Amino acid sequence: MAKRDFYEILGVAKNSSEDEIKKAYRKLAMKYHPDRNPDNKEAEEKFKEVKEAYEMLTNPEKREAYDRYGHAGVDPNMGGGGGGGFGGFGDAFGDIFGDIFGGGGRGRSSGPQVYRGADLRYNLEITLEQAAHGFDTTIRVPSWDKCDTCHGSGAKPGTQPVTCGTCGGHGQVRMQQGFFSIQQTCPKCHGTGKIIPEPCPSCSGAGRIKRNKTLEVKIPVGIDNGMRIRSTGNGEPGTNGGPPGDLYVEIHIKPHTVFQREGDDLHCEMPISFAKAALGGEIEVPTLDGKVSFTIPDGTQSGKTFRLKGKGIKGVRSGYPGDLFCHVAVETPVKLTDKQKDLLREFERSTTEGGAKHSPQTKSFMDKVKDFFE
Ligand SMILES: [Zn+2]
Ligand SMILES: [Zn+2]
Repeated sequence: MAKRDFYEILGVAKNSSEDEIKKAYRKLAMKYHPDRNPDNKEAEEKFKEVKEAYEMLTNPEKREAYDRYGHAGVDPNMGGGGGGGFGGFGDAFGDIFGDIFGGGGRGRSSGPQVYRGADLRYNLEITLEQAAHGFDTTIRVPSWDKCDTCHGSGAKPGTQPVTCGTCGGHGQVRMQQGFFSIQQTCPKCHGTGKIIPEPCPSCSGAGRIKRNKTLEVKIPVGIDNGMRIRSTGNGEPGTNGGPPGDLYVEIHIKPHTVFQREGDDLHCEMPISFAKAALGGEIEVPTLDGKVSFTIPDGTQSGKTFRLKGKGIKGVRSGYPGDLFCHVAVETPVKLTDKQKDLLREFERSTTEGGAKHSPQTKSFMDKVKDFFE
């Protein structure tokens, strides 16, 4: 019997992409899958044919050989789904559906499933100073101890847990959804494989008692908002002897009254008097390590930014600290006395007499306005 053309079998064009081939295969494989067509010889043959065509055309080397030499170009012993056996469901579909089902990996072992405990998150609020300098602290976190009353079995003293009748102690049941057959955690025993007819009064059948414990946490220098510190094994306990989860301490930095952090840099707004801005001179600038003196030049304008190198924060992964950016805000004086007002009026007269040279920005602006109206 002559073999049919692989492209024809899948109903795709000779130049179709791998995605198109996969899509076509998925459609046909669903149609002819033996799970869906029990005792149907014809469907079984079709499924084999489709599978072989798919395997050939998704293998770049084989596809090239087939395109050149036809069926003679590909080793007939390599195809055919390995001599008639279908293997398990995952065998036929693993390649395509693996990514949908999260890679599989859930073994079909007998006996109750072992589960890793859930991870826990602890939100820790710290100040910017603590983040910049690092510090050690303690936090209270939940912990679980084996129940003294039942010694961890969860059963009332004098009674025993019994094997779950729903899953026969496997902790897993097979569910039929459409033509999919899926293994699921047993809904009756939640995967433990056991049922406790008379729960322990101390722990309500959990076998463990929730307590609190104190944990030391080292906050590294330069930690930033949203970063997490992992404490291995301090999450919830596992099930059926599975390993515990981890505890994550997530850092939340409180807003600072003076500084805003941007990565390793700090920003602050620095109000200075109008006279100081005009005359220049020394100003005191706050940093996280105390005040430092800084000289501003005369004629400093509002909005001018001064950069203090190395006065930022040394980040967790940085070799050197960031910078502090000081944004000058010239403050207009308020609540002036009559005498101060007189002084300012006199001052204003003297600068006006001096012409535009004292206020180049105003002059330039007025020139633009003039041009605009003409
Ligand atoms: Zn107990
Ligand atoms: Zn069960």
